Amino acid sequence: MTSTMDSKTGAAGGAKSGPRVRFAPSPTGYLHVGGARTALFNWFFARHEGGTMILRIEDTDAERNKPELVEGILEGLRWLGIEWDEGPYHQSERTELYRAAAQKCLDNGSAYLCYCAAERYAGGDHAEEEGAGGKVRRVVRCACRDGKPTSAEGQPGVRFKVPLGGTTRFQDAVFGAREFSNEEIEDFVLLRSPRGEETAGQPTYQLAAVVDDIAMRITHVIRGADHISNTPKQVLLYGALGAEPPVFAHLPLILGADRTRLSKRHGATSVTSYRDEGFLPEAFRNFLALLGWSAGGDQEFLRTSELIGKFSLEHVLRTNGVFDRAKLEWFNTQYLQKLPIEELLPEVEAELKRSKLWKEEWASGAGHEWFAKTVDLLRPRVRLLPDFSSWSRAFFSDEFSYNEAAREKFWKKEPRLPEFLGQLAGALEALAEWNHDACEHALRGVAEAAGVKAGVLINATRVAIVGEAVAPPLFESMLALGRERVTGRLRAALPAVQESCKA
Ligand code: GLU
Repeated sequence: MTSTMDSKTGAAGGAKSGPRVRFAPSPTGYLHVGGARTALFNWFFARHEGGTMILRIEDTDAERNKPELVEGILEGLRWLGIEWDEGPYHQSERTELYRAAAQKCLDNGSAYLCYCAAERYAGGDHAEEEGAGGKVRRVVRCACRDGKPTSAEGQPGVRFKVPLGGTTRFQDAVFGAREFSNEEIEDFVLLRSPRGEETAGQPTYQLAAVVDDIAMRITHVIRGADHISNTPKQVLLYGALGAEPPVFAHLPLILGADRTRLSKRHGATSVTSYRDEGFLPEAFRNFLALLGWSAGGDQEFLRTSELIGKFSLEHVLRTNGVFDRAKLEWFNTQYLQKLPIEELLPEVEAELKRSKLWKEEWASGAGHEWFAKTVDLLRPRVRLLPDFSSWSRAFFSDEFSYNEAAREKFWKKEPRLPEFLGQLAGALEALAEWNHDACEHALRGVAEAAGVKAGVLINATRVAIVGEAVAPPLFESMLALGRERVTGRLRAALPAVQESCKA
């Protein structure tokens, strides 16, 4: 991920042919689900087409941007496994380029100096009038456009001169032909008029995005449908700067379960919060991919390599995607169960490191083999990565506690349970061989002699050796733990079992 562009001149380098796309977040917040989906689709497209993905930080609005948020956005992208080829470029370092472009528009008559205070246009260059059918939206053309400034004090801003008649069209790769009446497009600002020292001559998003998309030779602009209304302005700007517009592909919106646009009201929307909860990045990618795209057919479980292989803009949907948390969880369990074990192990290792349960001996050799087998045993019951350190803790640590509900359910019923568990420990110690059938035979033998159902002993033993009622099959758990641990834990549990029996 290296810069191959001169950040001051904007001359794009890069040897690859093929399309060039960009993900262009503004550091006004964290990387949210919608932004992540946009980044992902750009990346799928670039990888599918053998093209280049550029990361561009759109930080021209000094008042709204927080530089410290950039690192969080990069962290979210890295967690998602999105690898950009160029950048990150920072628009804040390229101001001269935007000023030169605004000057070019002034010189060729497609822009004008505007002396009006910014406040006059706050909320958009629109006015509303009472008409026969209610409120009518009307675009206000600034008086400065006709060389009649309302005031000529201070430094002016620069506005684009939208043609007075006609339409502006573009062909959207997803939504088809789009046409906007120029009457509906305000004379948008290219360079702001000063609002104090810091904002003097500050380029707007419209200007900076187009100048960069030209300089970076962007061929496809893939972004959220909330940007459709910006596109006619940008198309006009391309024309004024003498450049061909790229292909635009707008992605449908992402809605919450109540069918309103996804926002914080719907719960977590930051990508890193899903990482912190313990989702697998590939499951998250698969889930996001299907929010607004479909491979056709009903296959949903698609590994990232398959998504890249199948991705095309033609299959981006026009219907809005609905963020369904239950579906995301379903994807996570699917990946936990189906990934080749060697691909899952690093994730579990990272989880155990976070919870300080990791032992270096599991990194290689026999220790690694044991680790792989144990994770394989546990994974059908795991929903999120932290489950490996919570309910499966006893597989990785000797320090665990007995689940209260499990104790209540399985240790209380049979008053002679401590006696039987002691006998089981003895029988297991005496086994000539330590394997599944031998363990089962030993347990059934003790149950029969005691006159209790095997199930009673199985459940009680499970709580004693792993602390939980819900855990992998008992005899496989015994093998994973090893004889010494199992018999040691059975004996160590006796006082607690006794206490439960008496209660
Ligand atoms: N900086 C814009 C955003 O964060 C990107 C718009 C675009 O992709 O053109 O929404």
